[in-house]
Formats: sequence, C-alpha cells, structure tokens
Amino acid sequence: MIGVTVLGSTGSIGVSTLDVLGRHPEQFRVVALTANRDVQGLFRQCLEFAPEYAVMADPLAAGELEALLKGQGPRVEVLAGAEGLNYVAALPEVRYVMAAIVGAAGLLPALAAVRAGKRVLLANKEALVVAGAFFMEAVADHGAEILPIDSEHNAVFQCLPRDYQGDPAHHGVRRILLTASGGPFRRTPLEELARVTPAQACAHPNWEMGRKISVDSATMMNKGLEVVEACWLFGARPDQVQVVVHPQSVIHSLVEYVDGSLLAQLGNPDMRTPIAHALGWPERIASGVEGLDLFQVARLDFEPPDLERFPCLALAYRAIEAGGTAPAILNAANEVAVEAFLAGRIGFTAIAQVNAATLDALPVQPAESLEQLLECDRQAREVALHLVADSG
Ligand code: NAD
Ligand code: MG
Repeated sequence: MIGVTVLGSTGSIGVSTLDVLGRHPEQFRVVALTANRDVQGLFRQCLEFAPEYAVMADPLAAGELEALLKGQGPRVEVLAGAEGLNYVAALPEVRYVMAAIVGAAGLLPALAAVRAGKRVLLANKEALVVAGAFFMEAVADHGAEILPIDSEHNAVFQCLPRDYQGDPAHHGVRRILLTASGGPFRRTPLEELARVTPAQACAHPNWEMGRKISVDSATMMNKGLEVVEACWLFGARPDQVQVVVHPQSVIHSLVEYVDGSLLAQLGNPDMRTPIAHALGWPERIASGVEGLDLFQVARLDFEPPDLERFPCLALAYRAIEAGGTAPAILNAANEVAVEAFLAGRIGFTAIAQVNAATLDALPVQPAESLEQLLECDRQAREVALHLVADSG
C-alpha cells in the first residue's frame, strides 16, 4: 500500500485526488489530509477516508476540527499551522504527496515533501514560480520525483521521452507548446473588461477550478505562471515555450521535435486524468474520466494569444526573462491583486496594473536564497496592497 498525503485536500484538485484515490483502495492509503480553514469540509473527508492525520493551517480551525472529531468518527490526530503541514508532507509512512495548496503558501510544505525524497505530485505551480531554482535543486539533491499535475505540464511530460533529463536539445525537442483556453473573456469587447464581475471571471468555459486559478485563467496570468513552471520542470528557455490559444481545451499541450513531429496529449478536460497519470506512473490506472468522443469534438481551433487583451501574459514573459527575484515579485503581486478583485475592491483590469506597478517598484536581484525570495514575496505583497488601496 502506498501512503499518500494530500495537501489542500478540500480544494478543487484535492477533491479530484480523493476521488481517484477512492477508486483504488487496494493500492493507496490516505495518511494525511490538510486544509486552510474549511473545518466542515475536512471533517467530512476525515469521516470518509479515516486518515491518521488532519492538519488545519489555521490554528483556531484546528481546534474546531478536533472538537468535531472527538465524539464521533475515526481516531485522527489533528495538527495545526505551517509546522503541521510540513510534518505530514515528510512522514516516513508516506510515499506520495499531492501538493495542491493554492499560492505561495504551498511552497514550504511542497519543499518539505521534496526534502524528504517523496514522489511529489505538483499542482501548486506558484511554488516553482517563486523558487524554481531552489525547488529543482532540492529535487535533485534529495532524490525526490516530481510529477506535474497541471494539465498542460502533465501533457508535456507524457509527450517527452521517458528518460528525459531536463535538456530539450539532447532529446531533439525544439519547442514546448502550452495550450490555453483563453478563458471566459476571449471575445469580450476590450472596453467591457474593466466592469466584469468575479462571478463572470470564475465561470470558466471548460474547467471547474478554485477561484484564484479561475481568475488567473481569465487574465491569462495562469498561462504566464505556467510558462515559468514549464521552464523549470523541463529545463527550457522562455523562447522555447510557446502559448497557443485553443478554446476547446481538448489538446492539453504538445511537444515539437526537430524532425517536425508534433506530439500531443488529448482528453476530456477533467483533472482526474493527470492526477491518475501521476499516481499510477509509470503504469496507467483508471481515473473515472470518460474517453474523448472525437465526433462530438468535431473540430479543434488555434490562435495566437492577444497580449493587448491579456497583458498579464506579457508580464510573465518579462518576469522570467528578467529572472532572479522577478517571478516571485510578480506572483506575490498577483495573489494580492486577485484577492482584491475577488473581494470587489478593484476592477478586473486593475489586476494587471497592480502587477505591472509592483514589478516596476521593486528592484530585481539574482536569486540567492529561499529566505531572500520569501522576503521578496513579503515586500511585493506590501507594495501591491498599497497599490490596491490607492486604486480602490
Ligand atoms: P482551491 O482554492 O480549490 O483549493 C486550495 C486548497 O488549499 C484548499 O484545500 C485550501 O484549504 C488550501 N489552502 C488555501 N490557502 C492555504 C494556506 N494559506 N495554507 C494552507 N492551505 C491552504 O484551489 P485549486 O483550484 O484546487 O488549486 C490548487 C493548486 O493547484 C493551485 O496552485 C492551482 O494553480 C493548481 N492547479 C489547479 C487546477 C484546477 O483545475 N483546479 C489545475 C491546475 C493547477
Ligand atoms: Mg494548467
């Protein structure tokens, strides 16, 4: 039995992960589940999966969960805070860790899993955006295994040779093509974008996801973060990663080889496919996802991304080309801006403005240490919060 920790189990990816795990009780055992504040959600998952540990990042919520579990249900040890998250990410009885906390908050627990040499199923792209160099170095140093969960990166992984070692040229890879749906505002008149609501931004045409990544998809910052993620995961330069808008979200990404071959991975847009792929790898296990009906799909469309409509994508290329602390700054600004938009404090188009102004305001330095990057994250949040207050 393979012991599994699911970090961020109450979220969109967490729930899909438990769905897949629940289909293979003879193969996987849920050892630990974690959430931020959703006491009821984690309580229900404890009743269903009877993990040994449940962690609430919020200490007050941990107390509530403990009280709920006391009278009824299985014996679950309840832990709290960042220490609790890091602890269950590194347990000896755990072999696989699903890293599905949203935002930079997921970095340290994912890193704890890496440092403990686990197979890390990485959904938390922000961890790589903030600290890619240190994260990948730790993977190599501790013999950890990273399996990408982001559907595009999982698709690329599936299209690369099995012995791929992080050097595109060595394997005859010319380009990585990341597909993007274009989100809900691909055709919205530009002058209307300033007035779109959080509900409209979160109504993604093809995927059901958490609110933060839904807004990132609407601004295409998500694709920008994914370009950074792809560079770290696959050892690619930014100019080797091309974004292709593909509104049907049927092709999840492609790899182009020097002989002109283009390999793609296709499937219904359901995150249980990449999750099952990463859990089963190198075998294949059932995910509960239906096969793709090509007759129903009928056609596939492609277009280049419109950088005027999606300035956040251009900002991400700017940040990765600047390198060093720039992606961490941009990511932190974006987390603040998206939260402010979701709370109704700034308009949709102000997200890109806050991001750009934060990037302009802070000097970019070479990345020297994890502590420095976390400090940049903190400073960028402060700057972005001021910008939000000024624009609100
Ligand atoms: P979500 O908001 O639905 O869930 C986030 C989870 O993290 C929840 O369990 C929440 O309790 C927990 N969490 C939030 N803040 C926390 C904190 N400060 N400390 C500890 N735990 C915290 O998000 P999601 O859509 O499941 O996305 C999770 C990650 O996966 C993100 O990095 C996202 O970019 C990535 N991802 C998601 C999808 C998708 O389809 N949802 C696809 C690709 C990648
Ligand atoms: Mg993705």
